[in-house]
Amino acid sequence: MIQIADSSLFIIGKRIEGIIITVPSVVEELIDGRSRTMLDLMNVRVEPPLYSFISEVKTKAGFTKDSEELSKTDIDILAKALEFSRKEESFLISDDYAVQNTALHLGIKVRPVSQKKIRDVIQWEKFCIGCRRRFPQGDDCPVCGTALKKIRKRNNVREI
Ligand SMILES: [Zn+2]
Repeated sequence: MIQIADSSLFIIGKRIEGIIITVPSVVEELIDGRSRTMLDLMNVRVEPPLYSFISEVKTKAGFTKDSEELSKTDIDILAKALEFSRKEESFLISDDYAVQNTALHLGIKVRPVSQKKIRDVIQWEKFCIGCRRRFPQGDDCPVCGTALKKIRKRNNVREI
């Protein structure tokens, strides 16, 4: 059985058996040594998402309120899970509520990692794609007015 895992699995550090697949953007998010080690220990296969599935996920997420909550990484992992859900028995492993909810709308089977809420583990901030500034919150950039995107906070990167 194929298991498509988002960063929840590696951040929480739960070791599971079987084939585990993730996407490059999840690997990029795993910046601490512990979650990187989990990735190596579980022999995770890293596959880029296919464009056709990314586009299908974006269309579907646009119908729910989840689209604003989903990061690029979330869309990538949903696209990979959607691809596998069409060809074999597979599960998406995620503790992220918006990811879980969108997955259900797409007919993807979901399993949580733990009872612990991922929102307590991952910290979020807003990023302006216009001027590339970061903000703790808000919908529009107070500097250039561009709509802000929600991204995972990179705690070990010093703010400029
Ligand atoms: Zn801006």
